[in-house]
Amino acid sequence: RVGQVGEERVTTVALKDVTKVFRTGTLAVDRVNLDVDDGEFMVLLGPSGCGKSTVLRMVAGLEEPSSGAVFLNGELANDLPPRDRSVAMVFQDFALYPHLSVGDNIAFPLRLAGLEPGRRGERVADVAGALGIGDILDRRPGQLSGGQRQRVAMGRAIVRRPELFLMDEPLSNLDSGLRSELRAEISGLTRELGVTTLYVTHDQTEALTMADRVAIMRKGILQDVGTPSQVYGRPATLYVATFLGTPRMNLLEAAVHVHLGQYVALSLGEQSLRLPWDDMRARAVGHYHGERIVLGMRAEALTPTAPSTPGPVLHGRIRHLEHHGHESLAFLDIGATAVVVDEAAVPADGGAVRQRGLRQFGRAMRRITGRAGTAG
Ligand code: ATP
Repeated sequence: RVGQVGEERVTTVALKDVTKVFRTGTLAVDRVNLDVDDGEFMVLLGPSGCGKSTVLRMVAGLEEPSSGAVFLNGELANDLPPRDRSVAMVFQDFALYPHLSVGDNIAFPLRLAGLEPGRRGERVADVAGALGIGDILDRRPGQLSGGQRQRVAMGRAIVRRPELFLMDEPLSNLDSGLRSELRAEISGLTRELGVTTLYVTHDQTEALTMADRVAIMRKGILQDVGTPSQVYGRPATLYVATFLGTPRMNLLEAAVHVHLGQYVALSLGEQSLRLPWDDMRARAVGHYHGERIVLGMRAEALTPTAPSTPGPVLHGRIRHLEHHGHESLAFLDIGATAVVVDEAAVPADGGAVRQRGLRQFGRAMRRITGRAGTAG
């Protein structure tokens, strides 16, 4: 049976065509299918209002699906009350009991479960040690920093050794330094414990750095599920392509003409990009002969080159440059479309032009080697 303290730890979550329509008529979650594997760290990512929290609350048993099924450990859990689900939730507002000490806050779920005081003390000490808060067990929540409070909230969640961890934006109230510290801590801790985790955030950095797999939602609909490098490198939809990554992925409309065994020509406005037949990218777009497609190219896959460079090139006029310390971005017009290019590898003559000032650099016509990936 799901729900005993400290017993079977294996948990998988499966959502089958899960839909939630609130009484107000809002369709918050629209036929979502998602599997979370045993021990996996799954991040639900999407903009505000896309339905991620509602998915989490249905897994927790705090909301009932309007239709569809929630399976926990392979068993239908639609009617299972929250207390029988052995899930632990951590929210952004921590929700600690202000009148209890840190130690008593962490011990609280064990007290509810009827564990005797001696064993409670042991468990609290273990958890507090793992979280580095062993020396503040006597303090009250009001005497803690935001990061300490979040660690206490985590401690209270893991002390019961839940089978499933549900976290809803647990870091959003913290400053950025602490956020990145706790990011690493949370993903390290959940992996060490081997707990299956479903983590909700609208922050793509959190998603891409913490997740085993990311599930991206928009307007109640699941758009894509995959490892961070899959959703970043081969996004399933145009929405995912532009939602992930800064700067946004370049999207260019192109008409495809396949010259069998020779090359694939992509017509982009007045320009044409020729991909040799043995180029892997030619195969990727080769299925679309005679069609118009949207070509997705990340800035880091595009390099400014000298005009004489062989290979597929696009011509663009540089509008302006942006320096970000670790990288520089060039914004170009390619026909009617604006494109962003990672400008790290400026050829020697480009460097010389730049020294003469940005305006001249901006006027210089450059060739761009397109190491294009495709999206859609
Ligand atoms: P956020 O990041 O802002 O929390 P979210 O992606 O978690 O957003 P949800 O909280 O799941 O989104 O909300 C999805 C949609 O359902 C929103 O349009 C929201 O207004 C609506 N909604 C959420 N809870 C309720 C409720 N109890 N009654 C009616 N509508 C609701």
